[in-house]
Amino acid sequence: MIMPGQMRLPESSTLARHIVSTLTARNHAAYLVGGCVRDLLLGLNPKDYDVATSATPAQVATLFPDAEFVGAHFGVIIVHRQGQSVEVATFRSDHDYQDGRRPTSVTYETDPAKDALRRDFTINALFYDVQETRILDFTGGRADLDARLIRAIGDPRQRFAEDYLRMLRAIRFAARFRYEIETATLDAIRQLHAEIKGISAERIRDELNRILTEGGARHGFELLNETQLLDVLLPEVKAMQGVEQPPQFHPEGDVWTHTLMMLEGLRNPTVTQAWGVLLHDVAKPPTFTFTDRIRFNGHAELGAAMSREMLDRLRLSNDETDQVHDLVLNHMKFKDVPKMKPSTLKRFLRQPHFEEHLELHRLDCLSGSGRLDNYEFVQEKLKEITPADLRPLRLIDGDDLIALGYTQGPRFKEILTAVEDAQLEGTLNTHEAALTWVQERFPL
Ligand code: ATP
Ligand code: MG
Repeated sequence: MIMPGQMRLPESSTLARHIVSTLTARNHAAYLVGGCVRDLLLGLNPKDYDVATSATPAQVATLFPDAEFVGAHFGVIIVHRQGQSVEVATFRSDHDYQDGRRPTSVTYETDPAKDALRRDFTINALFYDVQETRILDFTGGRADLDARLIRAIGDPRQRFAEDYLRMLRAIRFAARFRYEIETATLDAIRQLHAEIKGISAERIRDELNRILTEGGARHGFELLNETQLLDVLLPEVKAMQGVEQPPQFHPEGDVWTHTLMMLEGLRNPTVTQAWGVLLHDVAKPPTFTFTDRIRFNGHAELGAAMSREMLDRLRLSNDETDQVHDLVLNHMKFKDVPKMKPSTLKRFLRQPHFEEHLELHRLDCLSGSGRLDNYEFVQEKLKEITPADLRPLRLIDGDDLIALGYTQGPRFKEILTAVEDAQLEGTLNTHEAALTWVQERFPL
């Protein structure tokens, strides 16, 4: 870990440093706090900066008149300047969580130690005094950074009861940094896991998305499993455990093991890429049959439908849900790729975000048979086929069909698709040839 004296503040901290010096010039205490201090000590680039101060919201507002008030009565103000935004919050202690989320009241404090105690985990409760280049550590956060531990501040059960989402936040940070969760904190999550049901789908979605995409997804899902949060949040994924697969295709083991291996292989995934990987075999448990061997007939189709239902439940956007649905639906088609007609292959390669389909396939192979033949075949084809060949300009359109005397209707689409197929096959190349071809094949 980096020593505070050696800590380098990146360019992105300009506004935060300006706010700190403006506040301290008026004799207010002001520190960088939370995730940004943690990240700086780890030598990482903070995503955003938070400032904590003894100045009241009204005093902050006087110094930064163009700032934005968010949840004004909780005293958080956002200062925006030149593409940077910094949250400035008055030191405070929280009281009486009634909805397991927002405190019903807060008290402004002048002592940063009080402000540390209302935060979730020790590694998230460090303050950095920019002028004195020293860390204020009221909860043992630096020792936990050194020990790579996520530890709740205070009594873990009480802290989770204040906001049960913190159970998922603990796992999110453990996943991202590949840390362990300290024993008492982990025990509390195990005991309280069922309470996650009271948290809104949107907040759960945001945490699961982050567990899946910020690195350490495998570790995150192992922790979700260990704490039984998985049983409550994603029972369909839990059901993968113990579902055997034919050993000739899957020497690695059951569906859960296979899925964890794929999560481990994710490289800076998008949200849809990660969910596609997680859910690609979600219908193997319900389709398991043993005939000549273990088979999962129709698991891609059923899995696509199940994915849609699950992601609707978790309130992912329609576009994200559609993409995951398609990733799951088409993941088995890669085995047919060498046999596809050129038109079928080109339509396959043209799918929106095809790179996500291909990456899912790569991970699927690497976490099973290990054979990348079809992956390499597709990569060759992608090099070979020019963009103009993949998406050629159409040879004729609906107006041409009307001019030929066809009447508008469902047949139009059928004819135009047939023309495009022939074009993708390379058998039709000109407007004139297409007109003749249509008249021969689709008599009026
Ligand atoms: P990230 O790098 O993901 O932004 P972060 O630690 O900055 O991580 P934020 O959600 O941005 O996390 O919150 C900033 C700080 O506010 C945290 O470090 C923590 O001290 C405090 N905090 C945020 N959410 C909670 C919560 N639900 N309960 C208690 N403290 C919280
Ligand atoms: Mg943050």
